[in-house]
Amino acid sequence: MGDCIFCKIAQKEIPSKAVYEDDRILCFHDLEPQAPVHVLIIPKKHIESLDDVTVEDQELLGYIMTKVKDIAAELGLENGYRLVNNCGEDGFQTVKHLHFHLLGKRKLTWPPG
Ligand code: 5GP
Repeated sequence: MGDCIFCKIAQKEIPSKAVYEDDRILCFHDLEPQAPVHVLIIPKKHIESLDDVTVEDQELLGYIMTKVKDIAAELGLENGYRLVNNCGEDGFQTVKHLHFHLLGKRKLTWPPG
């Protein structure tokens, strides 16, 4: 937690380009965007990955899901978008603080690499 870069962003110790914030979550632009719109949605609570979610986090996780469409609408993603979670080594998770990538404004391909 002490060295967590996303905790530091949530606590404003590291600057970010915020898109949405409330007492439980923060959404900010990714430093290395992979699409014209690429933001990250994080819980302010430090949860390492989807593997570390517990029943206590049920409401928080559900809350994040209800916010996705609002953030997508705010960013003009009326034609669709992709929500991604990378989990663990094989999932290519590089930051060990749960986050969801929201990508859009281009035709995304499938399957992902
Ligand atoms: P992951 O690979 O863990 O799923 O995604 C981590 C994401 O965080 C990457 O897309 C990376 O570009 C982004 N990222 C890493 N460090 C920072 C940072 O300090 N600020 C911002 N805005 N994004 C970051």
